Amino acid sequence: MATRAYAKYEGIFAHPSAAVETGLMSRLVMKFGGTSVATIERIRNVARHVKREVEAGHEIAVVVSAMAGKTNELVALCKDAAPIHDQREYDSVVASGEQVTAGLLAIALQEAGIPARSWLGWQTPIHTNDTHGSARIISIDGAGIIDGFRRGEVAVVAGFQGVHKDSNRITTLGRGGSDTSAVAIAAAIEADRCDIYTDVDGVYSTDPRVVPKAKRMDRIAFEEMLEMASLGAKVLQVRSVEVAMVHGVPTYVRSSFDDPENPKEGTLICNEEDIMEAQVVTGIAFSRDEAQITLRRVADKPGVAAAVFMPLAEAGINVDMIVQVVSDDGTTDMTFTVGSVDYERAFLILEKIKDKIGFSGIAGAKDVAKVSAIGIGMRSHAGVAARAFHALSEKGVNIRAITTSEIKFSVLIDEAYTELAVRTLHSLYGLDAA
Ligand code: ASP
Ligand code: MG
Repeated sequence: MATRAYAKYEGIFAHPSAAVETGLMSRLVMKFGGTSVATIERIRNVARHVKREVEAGHEIAVVVSAMAGKTNELVALCKDAAPIHDQREYDSVVASGEQVTAGLLAIALQEAGIPARSWLGWQTPIHTNDTHGSARIISIDGAGIIDGFRRGEVAVVAGFQGVHKDSNRITTLGRGGSDTSAVAIAAAIEADRCDIYTDVDGVYSTDPRVVPKAKRMDRIAFEEMLEMASLGAKVLQVRSVEVAMVHGVPTYVRSSFDDPENPKEGTLICNEEDIMEAQVVTGIAFSRDEAQITLRRVADKPGVAAAVFMPLAEAGINVDMIVQVVSDDGTTDMTFTVGSVDYERAFLILEKIKDKIGFSGIAGAKDVAKVSAIGIGMRSHAGVAARAFHALSEKGVNIRAITTSEIKFSVLIDEAYTELAVRTLHSLYGLDAA
């Protein structure tokens, strides 16, 4: 067997068969999401994608999700059994979806003449903490998978799951967690690249369903992707982008519905230095899952913000945008946003502490949306956000709150204007495809 050298990922990308020609071997992780493994026919198609890379001479670990809809079904069964249930048993139930697809893909690969075996979270092992339902990976032992490579075997790893070492219980990584499994395994086995095969052919400048002129990007920086995912783009689990960024794993988002013998290009998430022509704004993200809360006539004195936000933090409620109006009579209005799932809970908590803190009333709205523009080019360009405020005002879109950081800004608007705002910003920054 050829010895493994570290081919640069650009090389593999440009010439899928270069490894064979040059004798260089690369190690790849290929991850397939739920829609890509939804049926046996699609699992066979996945096997063809894997076969192509095996024949190109690469060592392959495949990470799979559960079949489309399976996890939702399992979650519903748990709720049916008991609305409030033991999270450790929940994990044991929902992890089963990935066990099925890992085994099925190993069978399909063997059927195609490719030696393969499945690996469950506890077998690898993938150690996590014990936050059942949204566990974090602590460490991955890649030795067994690498031994398998030496025997010429493809490793098929069940995504989404791990094991808590001390309690020996199965854990899961939170919805969408198999993206994180894939990137973390790529880091653990020092893969040259992690390919995320999904039902879209890459990362777009915004959601193509809202802006048909949205463009697929060839490359996007880790930091930009992290913002895009955090601010509403649904392609990748946020945590997976964090892991990719921290470990420098080049991550390639591509379509599993291409012809396996002749795949098209996708989007490479990589270091900023590897992007030739950086744009000021790379993408527009949006989220309708926002809610706004306004506290009226809050006493304007030290300690009040802490008194308001500590109880929310203690309840695990994330507060995002915060706006406080300057006071003229010793009181101020304080507006902030929370995820719409936390809205009712936040409201109740605030009502309880109303008298203690001293404010005259609470108002809220769930029909708000957050629209954000992201780009590393913002670091070196002034007035990027100001142009947006102007363009939005010309369309009659009222801005309720604004936040900015080094590489992004967000505006909170009425939900009804989401599409208009996204389209306006998308054209404003020259992102529309020709
Ligand atoms: N099957 C899990 C889910 O639906 C994990 C994943 O697909 O990434 O959330
Ligand atoms: Mg997913």
